[in-house]
Amino acid sequence: MKAAHAQSYKNHPVSGRILRRQEIAGSVLFETPYLRVALLLYVVLFPGTGLVAQPVRERLPVRELTYVVEPIIQGDSCRLRVSLTFRGDSSGKTRLLLPLEWSDGVDLYKAIRNLRSLSENTKIEDTKEPHVKTVHHRPNQRASLTYEVVSQPPGTKLTRETYHYPVLRPSYFYVMGQALWVYPDMPESTPLQLSLHWKNIPDGWALINSFGLSKPRQKVKTTLEKFRKGTFLAGDYRVKTIIINQEPLYAVTRGSFGFSDEEFHDTVKQLMQFTRDLWSSHDFPHYYVTMLPTDDPPGRTGGEGRTNSFTLFMPKDATLSKHLRTLAHELFHAWNPQRLGDFEVIGGVEDERLYWFSEGFTDYYASVLLLRAGLISLEDYVAGYNSLTKEYYTSPIRLLTVAEMVRKRQTSYEVDRLFYKRGALLAHYWDNAIRSRTNNKSSLDDVMRSLLKSAKARGVSLSHKRIADALRPYLGEKGVSDIEKYIDRGELVPAENFFGMCAIPEVINYHPWDMGFEADTSSRTRVISGVVPGSNAHRAGLRDGQKWVSGGFVWDDPTRLTKLTVIEGDTQKVVQFYPAARESIPLPQYKLKPDLSAAERAQCLSQLGVTSAPQKPDREARSLR
Ligand SMILES: [Zn+2]
Repeated sequence: MKAAHAQSYKNHPVSGRILRRQEIAGSVLFETPYLRVALLLYVVLFPGTGLVAQPVRERLPVRELTYVVEPIIQGDSCRLRVSLTFRGDSSGKTRLLLPLEWSDGVDLYKAIRNLRSLSENTKIEDTKEPHVKTVHHRPNQRASLTYEVVSQPPGTKLTRETYHYPVLRPSYFYVMGQALWVYPDMPESTPLQLSLHWKNIPDGWALINSFGLSKPRQKVKTTLEKFRKGTFLAGDYRVKTIIINQEPLYAVTRGSFGFSDEEFHDTVKQLMQFTRDLWSSHDFPHYYVTMLPTDDPPGRTGGEGRTNSFTLFMPKDATLSKHLRTLAHELFHAWNPQRLGDFEVIGGVEDERLYWFSEGFTDYYASVLLLRAGLISLEDYVAGYNSLTKEYYTSPIRLLTVAEMVRKRQTSYEVDRLFYKRGALLAHYWDNAIRSRTNNKSSLDDVMRSLLKSAKARGVSLSHKRIADALRPYLGEKGVSDIEKYIDRGELVPAENFFGMCAIPEVINYHPWDMGFEADTSSRTRVISGVVPGSNAHRAGLRDGQKWVSGGFVWDDPTRLTKLTVIEGDTQKVVQFYPAARESIPLPQYKLKPDLSAAERAQCLSQLGVTSAPQKPDREARSLR
């Protein structure tokens, strides 16, 4: 099984360039190329808080906004009635923005209805753009208006994409700030002084949002960006307070899954404890993790980092153990990159080369933290390392320069994945190097903490230079030269023995997956094309022009025997072959020694930052793969 992860970007046509990261993760077996294409369309949004280009951080005056939100429940439908009060501009005209869009085709302004003024001498006028209105008022006058937010019709299937819209039901609602708030146009970094009033919330409903728990009246100081990146929930949610280092963490869920609430709570607690310990950061006065059920098929899971929170979308039948890596990865994003500074802006554009760091290091730490938290075993960890090495070493594009990667990333899933793999292996490599040079006294953890510390200064951005500076105390100039070598020039990152005496290294002559013909195109046209002379497919008798009658193939698995029934002239025949390249690649892999003593195991674990033998949860040992 392989994890899938994709990202894409969009420009916000109104309030400047807003970067949106989308990612999916899950375990999917690609039976046909169509399935694979379909999967790539299934993206879950992960707005990159802190990734918005803000080269100039001027101090903007505080804006005061008052919102009153009231659910109106009628039969099996629910809508929100919202009123907004703000001070109008001195010109007597204020530009008002409605929710615009999320991913392609999600036109959020269509869910805003009955917008009208409530105050005297206030008039709302349409503009050419459906999501922009002009409010006329007396200069500097307070203006009030009201609108309704509607949901997709009752009975709409709950997919991950449904949650991009307002989800409003008679028993609960979940709305992203981007879909909920109508607001006067202003820069995203504008400081806000908000009064939020949640009116007529039915008895027994839980009330939680990015700015508090169980508070029908809220006074909030934030920025427009964080406000819109918040989530706003009320209803039949189950909220569990988990205490980590004296600070509450709320685990929020509703509906049912293929696992218990207790398993969810334990997992979140373990992961968050170890993640916050790693960063030595515990300044999370309000943070919640929401797990929401979808009607998606198992394997389609994904997460989304939001203001002071994280939302995980899980199919109702999913087991948690299969998605631990997604959870750990997404939780880690709350620091990397969210708290490490915005991506450096070069020539007016964010330096997208840095994805090797923000995604690759996050992937690396997802595995490390699962191990430290005792949620996976050393065996799982070694298997994960082997599989990472295999995916990376056998990728046909493994040697791309980072400049080419940036260029192709938006259009190629494989290129996007390469950022993760190359970055994760470089994290392993550096961690190993730092631990061996310092006799295990320091590690990559120290580098991460130093980046976090230096990010606290105003206006600091994440850059190759800052990463190299953070590495310098431990690796000298090796950091700079490694970034040039492995990232800029795209040389292969060494897959070293991370497990000391616990593992036996071996180099396998691996024949990577290679269909030997244009499988994608041929399966669409049902006519075989692009057969490579000398390939396994060719040697088995597959030829251009044969009609593809039946049989399929498995994506990315050279060990799966492919059987195709084809017609050539009047003859029908079955062609069988392994879809593997003729040429092999030397692939380093590691095997744990079979008879490890407890002391040896503890010693090897300590080299991975596991300070004491982690407690396995009393449930069945969980496996990632
Ligand atoms: Zn990610």
